[in-house]
Amino acid sequence: MSMRHERSTRTLKEILQKPGNDACADCGAPYPEWGNCSLGVFICLDCSGIHRNIPDVGKVKSLSLSHWEDQEVKFMAENGNQLMKSTYEAAVPIYYYKPTHRDCQVLREQWIRAKYEREEFCDPGVNLIYEEGTRDGMLMKRGRDNGQFLSRRFVLSEREGTLKYFTKYDAKEPKAVIKVDTINATFQPEKIGNPNGLQITYLKDYSTRNIFIYHDNGKEIVDWLNSIRAVQLHYLKVAFPGATDVELIPKLTRNFLKEGYMEKTGPRQTEGFKKRWFTLDHRRLMYFKDPLDAFAKGEVFLGNKDHGYSAAAGLPAGTHCNGAWQHGITMVTPDRSFLFTCETEGDQQDWLKHFNDVLSATMSPQEYTMAALFKHRP
Ligand SMILES: [Zn+2]
Repeated sequence: MSMRHERSTRTLKEILQKPGNDACADCGAPYPEWGNCSLGVFICLDCSGIHRNIPDVGKVKSLSLSHWEDQEVKFMAENGNQLMKSTYEAAVPIYYYKPTHRDCQVLREQWIRAKYEREEFCDPGVNLIYEEGTRDGMLMKRGRDNGQFLSRRFVLSEREGTLKYFTKYDAKEPKAVIKVDTINATFQPEKIGNPNGLQITYLKDYSTRNIFIYHDNGKEIVDWLNSIRAVQLHYLKVAFPGATDVELIPKLTRNFLKEGYMEKTGPRQTEGFKKRWFTLDHRRLMYFKDPLDAFAKGEVFLGNKDHGYSAAAGLPAGTHCNGAWQHGITMVTPDRSFLFTCETEGDQQDWLKHFNDVLSATMSPQEYTMAALFKHRP
């Protein structure tokens, strides 16, 4: 290693100590080990790969392995994450989904492109396409019965507060009318088997329905997500005029807390354990026969532990544990108790942690409304 290389590596390490440089400028991952020496930002390995694939956003270098010119090191010192965020994130709308390092590739790539390539967030007062109030386009949607993806027309309307889809482009009647305030949308590339796969969950007649969509173009599908979020925020501001942005943001689309297989028994707990796919979406625990089912087989509302809800490791004595899995969880609700089993102890502990986090959280007025709605389900 040359003396010059050693010196630049040491100086870069010092610059990393400055506030803001201790986390990736784009996804927040700790200890960034790469830099974009044209933008003057420190980024993580994953984001550096995205930067490298976008020629317009400049040159990426490893902080420890690459050769840095003196003027590049100086540029990093003069700029850095905090200053560059004040430029490139000067006007990120509050509904825009800012991905973290746990989010999928398409979300992180489009965030990076929106920031630096399209410079969408540099100037306040610019009208972004997510805010046009309506969006109309074709998306590939998974067929409920055969699992085949077919092109469908989707229409989002802020005025109506709905997302509709049509089986034919010129069809008059939509196949479904989805109220935006019941929508959750999360990217699920692995489950759907497409890097741009988006799961939309919504309520119809108090029951959860899933649709699975994608678009070959990453920008298109991420634009749909942010357009839905913009319409949701608009709807919420009308519905809750006194609420602050901080109160409303968690009510927009959000990632599921946890998903995975567990076994469960029926209500009499004598039918034997059956393997089901579980999805925990905050206070809503849903279970499906298959991860890509359109309808939940059942749903459990998780209230607060002060109102008769609890979750603990183990099964009641005498439970006929005919299932393959041994790591039990007993969930008690005011209506009934649920017995689950997990494949591993680690999985059991992880589910319990998430259940207890939810059961310990204070209920909002909207969640009391949701609890009451659950009682109306057929
Ligand atoms: Zn990153």
